[in-house]
Amino acid sequence: MTEILNPFRIAQQQLDHAAEKLGLDDATHELLRWPMQELKVTMPVRMDDGNTRVFHGFRIQYNTARGPAKGGIRWHPDETIDTVRALAAWMTWKTSVVDIPLGGGKGGVICNPKELTDTEKERLARAYVRAVGRTLGVTKDVPAPDVYTTPQIMAWMMDEYETLTGEHHPGVITGKPIPIGGSQGRGDATARGGIYVVREAANALGIDLKDAAMTIQGFGNAGQHAARIGRDLLGMKLLAASDSKGGVYNPNGIDVEALIDHKIRTGQVSGFTDTDPITNEALLELDTAVLFPAALENVITAKNAPEIRCTILCELANGPTTPEADDILYDKNVFVLPDFLANAGGVTVSYLEQVQNTYNLYWNLEEIHWRLKDTMRNAFASVLEMSRNSVIHMRDAAYLVAVARVAEACKLRGWV
Ligand code: NAD
Repeated sequence: MTEILNPFRIAQQQLDHAAEKLGLDDATHELLRWPMQELKVTMPVRMDDGNTRVFHGFRIQYNTARGPAKGGIRWHPDETIDTVRALAAWMTWKTSVVDIPLGGGKGGVICNPKELTDTEKERLARAYVRAVGRTLGVTKDVPAPDVYTTPQIMAWMMDEYETLTGEHHPGVITGKPIPIGGSQGRGDATARGGIYVVREAANALGIDLKDAAMTIQGFGNAGQHAARIGRDLLGMKLLAASDSKGGVYNPNGIDVEALIDHKIRTGQVSGFTDTDPITNEALLELDTAVLFPAALENVITAKNAPEIRCTILCELANGPTTPEADDILYDKNVFVLPDFLANAGGVTVSYLEQVQNTYNLYWNLEEIHWRLKDTMRNAFASVLEMSRNSVIHMRDAAYLVAVARVAEACKLRGWV
């Protein structure tokens, strides 16, 4: 049988599975299988050479029963409506599993940001807000950075939104630079949240991670911070890391700061001193305590799952594991920290950013870390409890916790 790799089909399949286990009625199940609102936009943007290029983008509000939609904006050449739908669904389960009062949404633009100058990026960011701005707002839908979008891009987007409305609305978008309403601790929040749940998982499994190996696929924002915080908080050593151009490996450990410097200077991890090259495929199969997929979807499939040899799989990326691969990992006793739990640190601090914007009062880093740790620890505990009580793996348990909360909110509102 051919494995389904369309991310939205996977998201629906995962929901179907949870709906069956929860015994959801047909209407609630159908409601939760689809985005409640989606917008497709076409944006003409003037390039630096005077020509106009036409870009296509999306913004989706998947479910808002628990609060305004929340979710990042991705700029990627392979973006599709189905990728955005799937990611918007996962945002809905993510805000629910960490129990913050928000729904799920997502946005995307089909483009290759590596081919755009800064001025072209600014014009594209502003064009996107002009196109989808009517569906955004602190009480409606609040975007954030994601793959290939940055705090600077969020700043341009917020500015465009405020220009359109003629009012200050710093809470309309999160992941902003700190001087214009960003939060302390947002930059490394996704990775930090992931490391907090890895620590909880290690405690639950009774394993010591000091000097244990970690492997990172996708040495970008989330991946680099995971390497640094994994070293600082858990004492782990970096065995291998990769990006879209290839990977590097050293069984004795890689100097994290020096590798980050090298990546910033050269734009790639390849060629880093004292390391051997390794392919992205081989990196995933290394014997390691914690494997962090931190790049794109569908990298662990039925094909390579039998070769995965980590103890804990911490999914910083969205959708890195297919359902078929999941079953194989479960049988192999790999402890999976599912994406929408493992990478919920980013949205949690985004939520804290929005709260601060609304208060117009700002917290220090210590306060943010404390609140993030508390949220991640509580989320992990509810999922672990569900997993142990129902004898199901962590992804199923996370789905049951999250979907049950969204279904309850839909019911309380009288939607179903
Ligand atoms: P990023 O753009 O900073 O980094 C992505 C990295 O992955 C880059 O180094 C890129 O070279 C690498 N990459 C791309 N294609 C690859 C491939 N085929 N093989 C190996 N590496 C590849 O993005 P990010 O913000 O670090 O996000 C990474 C993942 O984490 C995404 O799935 C994103 O949706 C998810 N995520 C990020 C955040 C956040 O706050 N940054 C929050 C939640 C989820």
